[in-house]
Amino acid sequence: FGTLYIVATPIGNLSDITYRAVQILTEADLIFAEDTRNTRKLLDHYQVVTPVQTLHEHNEKESVQKVLALLKQGQNLALVSDAGTPLISDPGFVLVSELRKSGANIVPVPGPSAVIAALSVAGIATDHFSFEGFLPSKEVARQEVLAGLSDESRTMVFYEAPHRLSATLADMELTFGAERVAVLCRELTKAYETIHSAPLSELLSWVNQDVNQQRGEIVLVVQGVDKSRRHDELTSFDKHLLKTLLDELP
Ligand code: SAM
Repeated sequence: FGTLYIVATPIGNLSDITYRAVQILTEADLIFAEDTRNTRKLLDHYQVVTPVQTLHEHNEKESVQKVLALLKQGQNLALVSDAGTPLISDPGFVLVSELRKSGANIVPVPGPSAVIAALSVAGIATDHFSFEGFLPSKEVARQEVLAGLSDESRTMVFYEAPHRLSATLADMELTFGAERVAVLCRELTKAYETIHSAPLSELLSWVNQDVNQQRGEIVLVVQGVDKSRRHDELTSFDKHLLKTLLDELP
């Protein structure tokens, strides 16, 4: 049996790759990538000539048998995504979960991920956090997800598309309150890297006043609800419980 290496690649700055990742990519028989042209640029930079094939969310299911067959032949394979760690808001989950059932060797080659990079500089509690990935693009669905997070006391981390940033911050202000602190982490490790921390209402006006802040790749780190300040308020669960009890009363 060969090994499938899950290899993290840079989220911007090409130097953010581990020695081991370059070595594994060099020695692998085949690399599976989301977008072969994108990965080729990284490989060219490190003079890696290993062949690359596509594996994206649309062909991931079909690829499982193919990958398994190659591993059975003893080939060593690598999976990369366009940026950061595969499976983190990127393809690979179907492949890894299916291969794990068949007892294949799957080995992590850790490195960058935007969620961890953002948390490491945001200055918001990191002892407990919830990675929320991308919010739904439709307004109503997005607001529903945010409403479901209104009682979340852990730090929340969101990936967001630049053209939705302003609308999302406005929805967050409505749901979490104007005072809740959030940190915009934009273009991390790249030329226009920006890390800006402010209460949601201020962050929203800052972003609306400067369209440049609505460009590029974005992570939002949002403080969790301070439960100690809400002892006199009812959580949505409390309200639900209260309503159920009142409904039952004669
Ligand atoms: N697998 C990647 C990881 O480990 O972070 C995430 C891939 S996901 C398709 C792409 C999203 O990650 C972007 O829309 C953005 O929210 C976030 N992201 C990726 N690179 C980033 C960067 N350099 N700065 C800020 N956010 C970034």
